[in-house]
Amino acid sequence: MSLKAWKCYNCEARGTHPGGHDFEAETAVCPLCKADGTTPRGRHAVLPRVVLHFDPPTAVVGIGENAIACRPTVNIVGNRNGIRATGEPAVVTCEACKATEAFKNASVGATDLSNAVTLPD
Ligand SMILES: [Zn+2]
Ligand SMILES: [Zn+2]
Repeated sequence: MSLKAWKCYNCEARGTHPGGHDFEAETAVCPLCKADGTTPRGRHAVLPRVVLHFDPPTAVVGIGENAIACRPTVNIVGNRNGIRATGEPAVVTCEACKATEAFKNASVGATDLSNAVTLPD
């Protein structure tokens, strides 16, 4: 079994985690409030969270490398495998991508969003 990303909205409703509590687990059960997303009552409380990877920009404005920063060998155009990526550092949720040099370089001076590129679904 591999870990999946979840967001607990019950924790948000309780006020402990504005915007929802992000966690990773094999099943949709919040480790904090114990909300169980596998039950009819809890299925709206714990929802799968989409991991958004970082697609590093190239020298060409608006064109990304079409590879994700945490796994540069994976070409997300030819073999997307449900992988989602963005050139906008502010919305990247992949922790591994955030740890890369490419991401840190791109995050500097990221207030200019005019060059941001988001891949279509
Ligand atoms: Zn919770
Ligand atoms: Zn990543």
